Amino acid sequence: MQTSGIMNKSPGPSASSKPVTALVITSHNGPFEQRQVQLKDMRPDEIIVRMVATGVCHTDVGSAMGKLPPSPPAVLGHEGAGIVEEVGADVNHLAPGDHVLLSITSCGACRPCLRGLPSYCRVGPRLLFGGARADGSHTMSMGDVDIASPYFGQSSFASRSIVTANCAVKLDKDVPLDVLCPLGCGLQTGAGTVLNDLKPSVGESIAVFGVGSVGLAAVMAAVRFTPATQIIAIDINESRLQLAAELGATVTINSSGKDVVELIKAATAGEGVDRALDATGNTAVIEAMIASAANNGIVATVGAAPAGKFVNIEPAEWIGRNVSYVGSCEGSAHPQTVRMTQYFPSDPLFYFISFLAHMNLGSLFLLLWNFGSKVAFRLSA
Ligand SMILES: [Zn+2]
Ligand SMILES: [Zn+2]
Repeated sequence: MQTSGIMNKSPGPSASSKPVTALVITSHNGPFEQRQVQLKDMRPDEIIVRMVATGVCHTDVGSAMGKLPPSPPAVLGHEGAGIVEEVGADVNHLAPGDHVLLSITSCGACRPCLRGLPSYCRVGPRLLFGGARADGSHTMSMGDVDIASPYFGQSSFASRSIVTANCAVKLDKDVPLDVLCPLGCGLQTGAGTVLNDLKPSVGESIAVFGVGSVGLAAVMAAVRFTPATQIIAIDINESRLQLAAELGATVTINSSGKDVVELIKAATAGEGVDRALDATGNTAVIEAMIASAANNGIVATVGAAPAGKFVNIEPAEWIGRNVSYVGSCEGSAHPQTVRMTQYFPSDPLFYFISFLAHMNLGSLFLLLWNFGSKVAFRLSA
């Protein structure tokens, strides 16, 4: 998408005074309503981003349905990509005109943050889901009514938004924002779990349970960037499995009505799989993943199971297997120091395949914003 050129900070009206159209939820399970909203004053550690595209993640849907905070009225969205219009006085890594991909925000000061693990920020849940800045203030309003914002530091379901600057990763201007936006959460989660948490070694096997957008990103990362030799994709949707195979999975298993543990054992000469991740959040699938792990294996939960659901582990058996079962949030990625766009090759065809994969599966929706007062958006499955 073409940009409108670099904008200077001084001339013309401030970006915060320009009209902003947003998709607002005003009730749980209600529609996303297209509304005019106002941006409040930008803080020194914030930027204003004109959104070009944003992905829609399951987490957005969970918040819209009331399964997750914040309460309406709210502007959700946390896979934004766009062009910086204004930067606050304390922001050093960005300038107006920069193209940015938006990812998670974090406090930057707690122990996990200082260790380079912002996904595990001690105040992360409040910053991501609190529907406000850390001090309780908001970035958007409709007249006199404050809107729960920013969501994940960005509230990207808007034509422009005040964004916490540490969300924003600067991009080269020739990378396609509309294709890359899901890197900010979904694709980062799948790829990062493989690259940062599972790290399969030469000759090892890795299984991906559930190959929607997160799982396919895990397959892509395992194929392209690890020395694993056996990449097993498991799903109940044949078209997803075909895409996983096209992206490099060496084994595909349609687990519908089958004993997936037996099939994985059979595919790994009886050993079980060395590394695995579950993107489904289904506890029966997670238990199957744990059961299918090889001795000394590492398996990760990525997809969120509903609160109050548990998996069973038998300690007596666990000791002799030395299997590690870990949780992984946002791929344990540090978006500011790892160039997310380099997770994937800068090959337009590859991006295209990635894009098509998600669009065709209906596992990811894309909003494409037009500029100006008329906002056209497209929800595609
Ligand atoms: Zn997400
Ligand atoms: Zn922190």
